[in-house]
Amino acid sequence: METLLNLIDGQLCPAQNGQTLTTPEPATGQDFATLPDSDGADVDAAVAAAKRAFPAWAAAPSATRARCLRRLAELIDRDLDVLAQAESRDSGKPLHVARAVDIARARDNCAFFADAATQFASESHSVPGQLNYTLRQPLGPVACISPWNLPLYLLTWKLAPALAAGCTVVAKPSEVTPYSAFLLGKLAMEAGFPPGVLNIVQGAGDRVGAALVCHPDIKAVSFTGSTRVGAGIAAVTAGTWKKLSLELGGKNATIVFADADLDVAVNEVVRAAFSNQGQICLCGSRILIQASIYGEFKARLVARTQQLRVGDPLEATSDLGALVSAAHFAKVSACVARAQAEGGAILCGGTPVRLPGRCAEGWFMAPTLIDGLSATCATNQEEIFGPVATLLPFTDEADAIQIANGTPYGLAANVWTRDVSRAHRVAERLQAGIVWLNCWMVRDLRTPFGGVKASGVGREGGWEAMRFFTDAKSVTLVY
Ligand code: NAD
Repeated sequence: METLLNLIDGQLCPAQNGQTLTTPEPATGQDFATLPDSDGADVDAAVAAAKRAFPAWAAAPSATRARCLRRLAELIDRDLDVLAQAESRDSGKPLHVARAVDIARARDNCAFFADAATQFASESHSVPGQLNYTLRQPLGPVACISPWNLPLYLLTWKLAPALAAGCTVVAKPSEVTPYSAFLLGKLAMEAGFPPGVLNIVQGAGDRVGAALVCHPDIKAVSFTGSTRVGAGIAAVTAGTWKKLSLELGGKNATIVFADADLDVAVNEVVRAAFSNQGQICLCGSRILIQASIYGEFKARLVARTQQLRVGDPLEATSDLGALVSAAHFAKVSACVARAQAEGGAILCGGTPVRLPGRCAEGWFMAPTLIDGLSATCATNQEEIFGPVATLLPFTDEADAIQIANGTPYGLAANVWTRDVSRAHRVAERLQAGIVWLNCWMVRDLRTPFGGVKASGVGREGGWEAMRFFTDAKSVTLVY
């Protein structure tokens, strides 16, 4: 068993109460690590350390903050394989995905915000006899709370801009996938972050996360996770004047028009639906297909999906690994049963996959396509967050937009058409924070990231994130 520890004030330490939780490897179903079962006392210690470290870190030259972040990026790159193995073992995702997507992006996040630290600027406006400028000052100690689906990718997407902006951080990784964050803490010490600048407290969300968001010395909460928990954080912090960035769930539409390049679309639509076992908030889980090509495209989607290989995450040939936990596997299975009860037809998948050998007890599920459901049924309204996508026909552009916008969520959408005017028209009318035209999951880190409606409030990415972690003060001099 691996023993994971908290990082508080530059020290690796167990929970003060001495308690631990265990975490299983989804591919095998076997426990492989213990993590601190921290509580409010550990949160208090971490926040106190972050508060002590704040003045010096905020006052440090931006080049100093950049140097630490750049060194962290280099160390992530040096340990890329070790981190990818940890993340794959923790989450069940294929090792090659952890390497190419999660850990590569964690490295890039740190490198990006190392540059951003030295490039961040604010505005000044000069009129005759008057100089006005905006002074941007780091907020203080902030909380960064991340989910299990892209563990280090999302944690670094928060803590890197916070640190670049001059905030100190108490990070709370998901208790479901604690391993790579533990390793990141060790790399942060090696990278030279002063004690207390980055603290990582492991443990249960309703103990550690709840204590953290309510702590009076925490000035902002950057949270990525479920809409349910995000709504709870908004409720308990109301009236505390903390800044909130909430990146929440999605029920994203993929829209395929008849004039699309269907050869490209079929591969990318399947990738959008099933990457990371469908456990990416941005996955296109409702596939809207223009009625004139519905039958043809459905057949191609099913054929392509059936080619996907569910297998041991350690094997390079595995397209899909295991679902993250027994509880999540049960939830996704129940969603498939509900879809059938609602009258849906399973086109492929819908069943567990039994693997031989070391993965015999793992939580594997075949990628599943379902059609025959109404756009308003629970299956098409609620996030499933697994390898399950539904197919829905639409008549024309207006119909597609109405169906796409017809859920409580508004995170992302991807649109497939050769008609450039239509692509832009549809992008403008979709209620989504992110729209991909003839692509999926392609982005420049400078662009804003986030959702609308029940998918959250606030934006991450580039200057948006740097601005989030600062207060803007307006200063005027009359001369
Ligand atoms: P979750 O909401 O259960 O947990 C997220 C984090 O919050 C975890 O670290 C958890 O320990 C912590 N937490 C739980 N209860 C808390 C509380 N009361 N106070 C403070 N923190 C608490 O989400 P999850 O199951 O880990 O992740 C899956 C969800 O995340 C999905 O809904 C998915 O769509 C969403 N997600 C959104 C984005 C995005 O960018 N919008 C990205 C990835 C995942």
